[in-house]
Amino acid sequence: MGKGLKDIDDQQLQQWVEQISLRSFGVPFRHKATFNKRLSSTGGRYFTKSHDIEISRIQLDTHGAEEVEKIIKHELCHYHLHLAKRGYKHRDDDFKKLLKQVGGSRYCRAIPQTKRVEPYRYRLLCVSCGMEYLRKRKLDPKRYACGRCRGKLKLLPLATATGQAGQQP
Ligand SMILES: [Zn+2]
Ligand SMILES: [Zn+2]
Repeated sequence: MGKGLKDIDDQQLQQWVEQISLRSFGVPFRHKATFNKRLSSTGGRYFTKSHDIEISRIQLDTHGAEEVEKIIKHELCHYHLHLAKRGYKHRDDDFKKLLKQVGGSRYCRAIPQTKRVEPYRYRLLCVSCGMEYLRKRKLDPKRYACGRCRGKLKLLPLATATGQAGQQP
């Protein structure tokens, strides 16, 4: 794997993962392994729903095959333990033990992180021009002015779907 790293495609990655699985774990890898070109903060990901594995293309290009092999081992630890219904998460002893045993890298994320979107809970209302600004957190309206007319602002809680409008908690 030392030569022509840049030319490795998904099919070759698949074979590579299958080889490592047999060699280091003694169990076949029966799902899909693909490269992810945009994955940069983590080396790889294991998807608990599909059992597929994604490997960061950037890791391969910057750190080389040796590092990626460790990432593959890490993901395979998640994979095999999860399928065997054992502790497959980072904090689990099963995971720590197996990772050490096969020599996988220590970092990655088990499940793709979906960014938690905070809802808007307040609106700032300009008392002069009626312009509205949505805010996620409480703030002191006296410290701000309307961006359009420099008028005074009033902070109002947004009615939530479950809450009753107009009522104070
Ligand atoms: Zn992980
Ligand atoms: Zn205004």
